[in-house]
Formats: sequence, structure tokens, C-alpha cells
Amino acid sequence: MTAPIYDRVALIGLGLIASSMGHAMKKWGLSRTVVGHARSAKTRDAALEIGFCDEVFDTAAAAVAGADLVVLAVPIGAMAELAQEIAPALKPGATVSDVGSVKQAVINAVAPHLPGSVAFVPAHPLAGTEHSGPHSGFATLFQNRWCLLTPGTADRAAVEKLASFWRAMGANVEEMEPEHHDLVLAVTSHTPHLIAYTMVGVADHLRRVTESEVVKYSAAGFRDFTRIAASDPTMWRDVFLTNREATLDILGRFTEELFVLQRAIRMGDGALLHDYFTRTRAIRRGIIEAGQDTAAPNFGRNAGEGS
Ligand code: NAP
Repeated sequence: MTAPIYDRVALIGLGLIASSMGHAMKKWGLSRTVVGHARSAKTRDAALEIGFCDEVFDTAAAAVAGADLVVLAVPIGAMAELAQEIAPALKPGATVSDVGSVKQAVINAVAPHLPGSVAFVPAHPLAGTEHSGPHSGFATLFQNRWCLLTPGTADRAAVEKLASFWRAMGANVEEMEPEHHDLVLAVTSHTPHLIAYTMVGVADHLRRVTESEVVKYSAAGFRDFTRIAASDPTMWRDVFLTNREATLDILGRFTEELFVLQRAIRMGDGALLHDYFTRTRAIRRGIIEAGQDTAAPNFGRNAGEGS
């Protein structure tokens, strides 16, 4: 147990990320009180029953009253309305943060509604699984994962405190410009997810390979795609709608590279293919050396997707 970093943390949205934060706060004693709000009574009841919240509220405004840290952990498309709703109820001096997978769009949606008396420090933990909802969280989700902060000109004391909070949950913290964050994530997460969705769609449409064959012979490659393509549809819809430019940029480059490989296959250009795969293999080794390919402890499978 460490000393509590906050007195009262309010989690708005009680799904995978928020419930994991709740479990981590309880496990390491990072907040004296953890309160929450979700849209449905079912989710709010589950949070209490599971025990990662001490108290839940029917409205977001009631949940944030008196909180030192408010975390918006809802799909990106819901953030603007929630920010507007909670703004009058925020405690002066509080920190408002979020965990959204796209940063510039969240800043545009949230910042205009917040009073000048609070610090807004956007955050994005690069951790996740294909599961969602209050039952899917676990305390070690953020261990050895990155949490990127895009604080802009926010109060430095508030930024440092939030950074220490994420470190206490096991994350490595770094700061970035929001626009750069969105480009980096378009490369490392958003476009790969789109490719996984597409590949699973292709298999679904291909009538020459039966469904049972796809299931039966789904060795590593395709099986990994299906796991990624099982990620929450609402969350991912919002990611592509809000990180449009960066994703389209990377997708354009991806298509060009794909045509290069397609041509090499057609022309029997083994040297090109071999060189290409040698370069990509080096990237893979770099990821392993950086320790970013570890399965999350106590979860029994790879939990590194995130967004
Ligand atoms: P999730 O498991 O699907 O949970 C979403 C939660 O938000 C649910 O508790 C839902 O309540 C609540 N909610 C949705 N709309 C709401 C509204 N209008 N008002 C109040 N509550 C509302 O989602 P998640 O995976 O934790 O993702 C949350 C955020 O984290 C997203 O912005 C996502 O981009 C980001 N993120 C996700 C991952 C990942 O891999 N999953 C990784 C990093 C960041 P009900 O259950 O009552 O509907």
C-alpha cells in the first residue's frame, strides 16, 4: 500500500478501463474514496457488487461533486455532453482527465465546457483487451504499459500528480502533443485494428472457404485478427470518426505498401519480399526488447491491445 494520492476519485463510465482503475486504486490504496457513474443501473450495481467503487450515483454531476480527480472513461462520442453536464458541479481545484483513445477530438469536445478553476489533463493508457464492461477490469491491466498525457498548458502540479497516480498503477508515463499522439496511435493501433476488422470481414465473405474451416484452421495469424476484431464496436466506431485524418493518412500509406508487395508476389520478386520481411522482423525484435510484448500478469493471455 502506498499513501493515497487523491482523497476522492470519480469514475464516469464504469467499463473495462474504469473498472481496472478502480481495482488498481483499491489494491494499492491510491484514493481514500472511489465513486462512479455509468449510464445504466445494471452497470452501476455491478460496480458496487464487484467492489471497485465505494459509492455510485445516478447522474454524472452528482458523482463528481467533491471529487479531486474526475476521469471520463466513456466512448469518445459521449464526452462532450458529459463534460457539459459535470462542469457546474466540479470542485474548484479539481483535476479532470479522461482515458480516450484519441486526444485532439477529446480536447475539442471537453475543454470548452470546463471552468477555469479546474485543471484538464487528458490521458490515454495504452492498455486494453477485447472485453468491455464492469466485469472485464483487473488491477494489473496498466502494469508496464504506457500512459500518454497531453496536458498542453495545464497546471504543472496537477500534471505531476496525475503522472504519479498512473505510475502507482504500474504505467510508464510520457507527455505528448495531442496531434502527434493521434498520428502515433493511428500507426500503432487504429489502422492495425481496421486491418483486423477487414481481414475478418474478408474471411466472412469468402464462400470458397467454409465457416467451419475458418474456425478449425485459424492458426495464430487469423486467430489474432479475430481477437482484435472482437473489440467493442461503439468505442472503435468513435475512434475512426474522431481520428479520421491520421487514420486515412496511414491507411493510404498502407495501401501503397500493399500494392508493392502484391506486385512482388505477382512478379515472383523473392528478393524484395525477403528484404521487406527482414526489415519488419527487426521492428518486431525492437518491440520485444522494449518489453512491450508481455502478457499482463494474472490475466492468462495477451492483454496488450489497448487503443
Ligand atoms: P466499455 O468497457 O465499453 O465501457 C464504457 C462505459 O461507459 C460503460 O460503463 C458505459 O455505461 C459508459 N457510458 C457510455 N456512454 C455513457 C454516457 N453517455 N453516460 C454515462 N456513461 C456512459 O469502455 P472502455 O473499453 O472502458 O473504454 C472507455 C474509454 O477508454 C473509451 O474512450 C476508449 O477509447 C478508451 N480506451 C479503451 C481501451 C480499450 O482497449 N478498451 C484502451 C484505452 C483507452 P453502461 O454500461 O451503463 O452502458
